Amino acid sequence: MLLARVGEEKRGPVAKGERGRCPNCNSEVLAVVPRENIRHWRHRARDCDPWSEPEGPWHLGWKDQFPVEAREVSLIDPYTGERHRADIRTQAGVVLELQHSSIPEEEIAAREAFYTRDHRMFWLVHMHNEGSFRGTHFLMSLNFDKRPINFGGKRFSIMSWVGPGKQFIEKWKRSSTHVFFDCGGSIFYLATKKGCAPILEQLKKGEFALCPLTVREFLEAVSG
Ligand SMILES: [Zn+2]
Repeated sequence: MLLARVGEEKRGPVAKGERGRCPNCNSEVLAVVPRENIRHWRHRARDCDPWSEPEGPWHLGWKDQFPVEAREVSLIDPYTGERHRADIRTQAGVVLELQHSSIPEEEIAAREAFYTRDHRMFWLVHMHNEGSFRGTHFLMSLNFDKRPINFGGKRFSIMSWVGPGKQFIEKWKRSSTHVFFDCGGSIFYLATKKGCAPILEQLKKGEFALCPLTVREFLEAVSG
């Protein structure tokens, strides 16, 4: 968690030993000011959001693109009382989840069910080589020349996943929301069940369709 309530402010920690309140559960959180990694807040006990993941410079960089009131927004299901912190929730009613670590399909489905009750939802999935060579396999799979397809005013290209990890791409194709990949700062919109069902019908297992977009176009889409 990068932001906490300190008095009237919602902000990151500035000094070791500082205390704040979690905007989600209101319990006390402590400043963690590591030399190597980024500054963040830690709950005294466990993080109140079981969906939280350890955050690094990648998360910080993306969160910094949005106004502070749009970052780490606590949302509550009025019927069950379930609470979660959306990484980004914009004025336009979009929830953006920043996903760096790998995530089981059941958790993808649970988060989508929770956030799409009242919001449009986007995922930004970080393609990197920590723990696997997924980033490299992704780059090797990119092919925008062979099978272009126009859909919804966008130009997609169909390509095949190279190397192991086809389950990874199949899992994200099945998303019922909008999925974007960030590979070294280049952004790609993935055709999913949600927005591009007619494209998905043409795809074999291991095949997927991408539409490249600029960071600016991506930020505009999130901000509505
Ligand atoms: Zn909390």
